Amino acid sequence: MRIGIPAETRPGETRVAATPETVKKLAAKHQVIVQSGAGLQASIIDEAYVAAGATIGSAADAFGCDVVLKVRAPVDAERALMKSAAVLIGMLNPFDAANTAAMAASNLQAFALEAVPRITRAQSMDVLSSQANIAGYKAVMVAANTYQRFMPMLMTAAGTVKAARVLVMGVGVAGLQAIATAKRLGAVIEASDVRPPVKEQVESLGAKFIDVPFITDEEREIAKGAGGYARAMPADWMRRQAELVHERAKLADIIITTALIPGRPAPVLISEETVKAMKPGSVIVDLAVSQGGNCPLSEMNKTVLKHGVYIVGEPDLATLVAADASALYARNVLDFLKLIIDKDDQLVIDREDDILKASLICSGGEVLRK
Ligand code: NAD
Repeated sequence: MRIGIPAETRPGETRVAATPETVKKLAAKHQVIVQSGAGLQASIIDEAYVAAGATIGSAADAFGCDVVLKVRAPVDAERALMKSAAVLIGMLNPFDAANTAAMAASNLQAFALEAVPRITRAQSMDVLSSQANIAGYKAVMVAANTYQRFMPMLMTAAGTVKAARVLVMGVGVAGLQAIATAKRLGAVIEASDVRPPVKEQVESLGAKFIDVPFITDEEREIAKGAGGYARAMPADWMRRQAELVHERAKLADIIITTALIPGRPAPVLISEETVKAMKPGSVIVDLAVSQGGNCPLSEMNKTVLKHGVYIVGEPDLATLVAADASALYARNVLDFLKLIIDKDDQLVIDREDDILKASLICSGGEVLRK
């Protein structure tokens, strides 16, 4: 079987879907074709792929394979290079109906890795977690870089410097890693989430949980979420959360927001009024900016200064850690491939498999997941 690894061409995308480590495993059984320069932005040179057993080729060579491994969905011109019925694996954005329809029209068998269910068997292929983990770490690095003071408390001959106060809003995979990273840098941390089990996780990392009490059974029920994901909370709970957050934000030096609701706009957690009340020189890193933002003042791909507060709107922080983000993503992809390649090294797609059923978004010209 021929497996292709094209270069990513979407603006800002620095990652690559295979590394020499994963290519070596694939090349033992298959012909692997890497587009020249595909790994450069992730610090992987063509020679490293060749040493792992790959052949270097053009975009047409890589896209023309039986199985194509990508980070992001191919653009029109790239899809045109693909064979009918080719298998495409990547973060293909299953919520983008037009893109899915285009892949179906090209008769691709496309697997969107974001749609892999969050079950134990699928943990090693969970790209949302592997990339969110990196984004949470980098959010703190970016915040520290923008913030004009120290993170840790320092006692020096020239006097004492106070530790930075960090507020993390939304404690999923990215939020937990942001807490852990800020803790290592010596910050004092508070965090908020809707899901009750998060409280214990936050406290185990040495941070303080901002408790927004549940008043009604409906609130308690919605807060449990579905499939590990949050659901949109009732307006009354959101108002009480906003009041509490407003008070905590006044004291914070850095706020990192990561709150997302799958398939919906991100909830607004830091209003303009709250930004106005924050200290001059404080920093907000809004990881939800591509879903509309947890702060209405954040702007995509920009750091803006509003009411004296720096607001960072970098949509995909994992792309700023391209080498490790690619390394983890490539391992996720390799584990996913094991589900569709049988022991005789043939492509076999079991449409009854839970993971494949959930992630196969088009096949045979049909859109399978709407
Ligand atoms: P996410 O990226 O969808 O959302 C980030 C966080 O924002 C979530 O914790 C969510 O509860 C929170 N949030 C949403 N609305 C909010 C609001 N109004 N206020 C405050 N917080 C709000 O989440 P994620 O990182 O994908 O992780 C969700 C959960 O799934 C985590 O508990 C994670 O550990 C779990 N998970 C399980 C598996 C598995 O079992 N295989 C795999 C990965 C993740």
